Amino acid sequence: MGSDRTEYFKQYHAENRKRRNENNKRNYERNKERISEQARKRYPAKKTEIAKRHAHWYENNKEKVDENNRRWRINNYDKWLSYGRNYWSRRNGDFSYEEWLMLQTEYDNKCAYCGKITKLTIDHVVPISRGGEHDIGNVLPACKSCNSKKNTKLLSEWIPEMELVGLA
Ligand SMILES: [Zn+2]
Repeated sequence: MGSDRTEYFKQYHAENRKRRNENNKRNYERNKERISEQARKRYPAKKTEIAKRHAHWYENNKEKVDENNRRWRINNYDKWLSYGRNYWSRRNGDFSYEEWLMLQTEYDNKCAYCGKITKLTIDHVVPISRGGEHDIGNVLPACKSCNSKKNTKLLSEWIPEMELVGLA
């Protein structure tokens, strides 16, 4: 008799499972729209959370990532250059990316003002706000710090200031 009961339960559970699955499917179909609506609403919050998690991960793996990026740049120099060029042409129409790279090379990839080797930014020798042009003849590679310290000053105004603090 025992084995009959076992059979019965097996059968019962199998039927029940089938029914449950069908119910789930039906519920899912019925709720699909509502669920995706909720997901859509939740997504922006989720996105910031993902970004936060990614930033956190980057902090912990920075050296590895930077090393990978550096290696990738060396192995894919042409691709890297064309990415740079595309990015460049979206923002700076007036002189070419190559001209800017060449200028940096002329300065040994150092800040033209303090000589620091770091990520270089475009400094307008005569600031745009003072009538300077966005032209290769009017730009120098400068570190972020010098660039923001020089800001809207002319060299003639800034260099005495640098001399005062012993930079020039
Ligand atoms: Zn500098």
